[in-house]
Amino acid sequence: MRHVAIIGSGPAGYYTAEACLKTFGDQVQVDIVDRLPVPYGLIRSGVAPDHQSIKAVYKRYEGTSLSPQVRFVGNVTIGEDIAIDELRGLYDAVVLATGAPHDRPLGIPGEDLPGVMGSAAFVGWYNGHPDFARLDPPLGHGGAVVVGNGNVALDVARILAKTRDELAGSDIVNHAIDALDRSRVLRVTLLGRRGPQQIAMTPKELGELGHLARAAPHVDPADLPDPASDAALEPGLRKSVGHIRAFAANPREDAAVIIDFDFFARPVRIEGDGRAERIIVERTRLTEGGSAEGTGELYEIPCGLVVACIGYRTPPIPGIPYDEKLGRFANEDGRIAVGGPDANGAGGLYAVGWARRGPTGTIGTNRPDGFAIVDLIAADTEAGSTRQGAAGLDALLLERGVRAVGFGDWRRIEAAENARARAGSPREKFVDLAAMLAAVEG
Ligand code: NAP
Repeated sequence: MRHVAIIGSGPAGYYTAEACLKTFGDQVQVDIVDRLPVPYGLIRSGVAPDHQSIKAVYKRYEGTSLSPQVRFVGNVTIGEDIAIDELRGLYDAVVLATGAPHDRPLGIPGEDLPGVMGSAAFVGWYNGHPDFARLDPPLGHGGAVVVGNGNVALDVARILAKTRDELAGSDIVNHAIDALDRSRVLRVTLLGRRGPQQIAMTPKELGELGHLARAAPHVDPADLPDPASDAALEPGLRKSVGHIRAFAANPREDAAVIIDFDFFARPVRIEGDGRAERIIVERTRLTEGGSAEGTGELYEIPCGLVVACIGYRTPPIPGIPYDEKLGRFANEDGRIAVGGPDANGAGGLYAVGWARRGPTGTIGTNRPDGFAIVDLIAADTEAGSTRQGAAGLDALLLERGVRAVGFGDWRRIEAAENARARAGSPREKFVDLAAMLAAVEG
């Protein structure tokens, strides 16, 4: 037997649990610990609510959770309820699958003004994450600026541009669909500090912008590079650039909402009287090495909302080696520390997913990542564990009066969320912990 604790119940955590089952057969016991009483991490709170087919991967994680060798232990905060070192005393291996839920700062003056926020906050708001449910982003101004040219920027721009009818069948939470319905935003500017061939948007997601009910993309043809140069691009990017070219060739100036691709534009500062009113932008050009350099030409874009979609950071945990520059745990291929051989030594410590490699890749990228970590655990640990595992954790939680939420409890929350969904939507999420815990008690 091996006892494994995984911190975080998002894709990286669940693929690691799945890999434990495949690798160790019935000789493993896995606890997936999460600070929220609800599982699935980014699938629940990060993936866009109008992308239900992507969210459907949770069914696979559900299958893993239904194994008698895997427990979901929700509502338990590592670092508050239980220390990492305590877990390392109880389990042969502790895997940090905590993702990268903090926004990278823009690092420009004015980013602390009300109306300026990162994508973790804004996406968390429309997805009903308890930390951001009360964000109340200002939507009363005609202009909104989304910084970044990645898939998250696309998600944010699309959600800002969609109508109530377009969002009705999604699982966007009611407070967000109501606020967006009242929104006065008519121009969403996507700021890209480089050009159309440097975007990090995938073709399927980018193509969606061409099929919105009242909104249309706008691209200035002057920003497009020589079409012949597309041949050198990797096929997915070439397809995405093809969409950008099509948007430029088919302008729909009459659309009620414009999603304006402002390329070669980097944010310099955000200004306003007590809140964001405008963003000052510098025109850029590409250097020979492909990075953006400022031209000195400045202009302003009026806006009441700025959402920075420029990447994420993993929150550090005191005592665990951390790479400040990369914003993730310092590790070697996922290994942070090798554990002692018996119950008297600390169990091994590992990082997986975004906590290991930073915020890149698709959900599926986490699967090989999970298997690679379990290969390391297999190499570093012995089969005949003398550690307490789940029994030891339960004893500590009981002693400290922590009400852990199990998978069966989560199913009660899930049933209650499904039952209160608006017509056409799969669920209406609870957005605060008290409501989630009340649903557990029925
Ligand atoms: P991302 O793909 O890394 O894109 C970040 C964007 O921000 C880039 O365009 C980058 O420009 C720009 N940026 C970074 N720092 C900046 C700064 N200081 N000023 C201006 N712009 C700046 O990150 P993401 O969009 O957060 O996505 C994270 C991961 O999740 C990605 O792998 C993404 O594909 C994935 N994801 C996938 C989906 C989907 O498949 N449906 C949806 C959402 C997210 P440079 O290129 O110039 O650095």
